[in-house]
Amino acid sequence: MEMKKLLEESNHYIMNTYNRFPVVLRKGRGIKAWGADGKEYLDFVGGIAVNILGHCHPRVVVAIQKQAQRLLHVSNLYHIEPQIKLAKMLVEHSFADKIFFCNSGAEANEAAIKLTRRYAKEHSGKDRFEIITAFNSFHGRTLATITATGQEKIQKGFEPLVPGFKHVLFNDIHALRSALGKNTCAVMLEPIQGEGGVKMPSPDYLKEVRRLCDEHKLLLILDEVQTGMGRTGRLFAYEHFDIVPDIMTLAKGLGSGVPVGAMLASDKVASAFAPGSHASTFGGNPLVCAAAIATLETLLEDGFMFDQCKRMGEYLQKELKNLQKEFSSVIIDVRGLGLLLGLELTRDCSNLVKACMEKGLLLNCTAGNVLRFTPPLIVQEKDIDHMIDILGEVLSSLS
Ligand SMILES: *Cc1c(COP(=O)(O)O)cnc(C)c1O
Repeated sequence: MEMKKLLEESNHYIMNTYNRFPVVLRKGRGIKAWGADGKEYLDFVGGIAVNILGHCHPRVVVAIQKQAQRLLHVSNLYHIEPQIKLAKMLVEHSFADKIFFCNSGAEANEAAIKLTRRYAKEHSGKDRFEIITAFNSFHGRTLATITATGQEKIQKGFEPLVPGFKHVLFNDIHALRSALGKNTCAVMLEPIQGEGGVKMPSPDYLKEVRRLCDEHKLLLILDEVQTGMGRTGRLFAYEHFDIVPDIMTLAKGLGSGVPVGAMLASDKVASAFAPGSHASTFGGNPLVCAAAIATLETLLEDGFMFDQCKRMGEYLQKELKNLQKEFSSVIIDVRGLGLLLGLELTRDCSNLVKACMEKGLLLNCTAGNVLRFTPPLIVQEKDIDHMIDILGEVLSSLS
């Protein structure tokens, strides 16, 4: 079907919840994607931090094919080999002792919120239910997770929201300390605020948060849905900050594109869940676990991906800083870690993203005026050079 007809039908039949670009993507390989009209794109969005290994990585594709021939789904009434293997791998490479599987980031956070409330009631008393989160955060789109999300525009119109959340300024330990009350049971943060515009914490912030949590017997929940799975040059972003959380959530990059989420916790915290406490029909089914195992195995093999991510992240950051020098009236800031980078502009970036797309470059704009770069970890110097060329051209034509 031709592009025009596809776009018409898409708008006709699909609920209008996204401001989609007028393009239909049909195929992808590595960092490249192709439209239904055959146009080639350099993909620096990578499914917004999902396609860690690029499009259709052969190991992931083969793992999915093999698993699809063997078993797609049974039910969590039974044990499943791929789920056991994936859980073991996650435990062996993180602070956690136990894993709960679900299908998305929002669900992983929802599970974390439920586990936290159960744990706090058991260990600290009935009146301990309040979770403190940050303004400008993003934790998902279910009712509890939009409440956790400290952004009015995401909550607007959905009131009444879920009770038991309070927001404080990110990166301000004094604000957090003053917000603690007799009902507080946990602090929930993204190590780097992704959706909020790639906002970095200052070097000691997370350590201070950890200390405050220990002092007041609060759980620390880290939402690593975006920062996890090698994105920042380590398997999990918390490893950069010399702390461990009590609970961590994963999704986006976990399955290289299949819907899988996970909530990880220490034994002590995990024991607040018992049979019947929480469940998910599809959570951790054989198909998605096979994809996640292939993803993790590829990431962990001889540490190559982490090195690559670190080197390419530094190169991309350097090139973006050169652009900043050239276009200092438009670019305010370049920041981020590994291959989660942001370029803050003095103005809205939607026109710029559209112009880049016409030139065959996919970029993402978040928080209104921040270009967010989340290319696959397999990105190469020549891809970055190509991207910078296009972005430079577009910046010159706009300024
Ligand atoms: C994307 C994201 C979510 C939500 O994940 P979904 O899979 O869309 O539910 C939650 N937290 C963070 C930090 C995210 O980046």
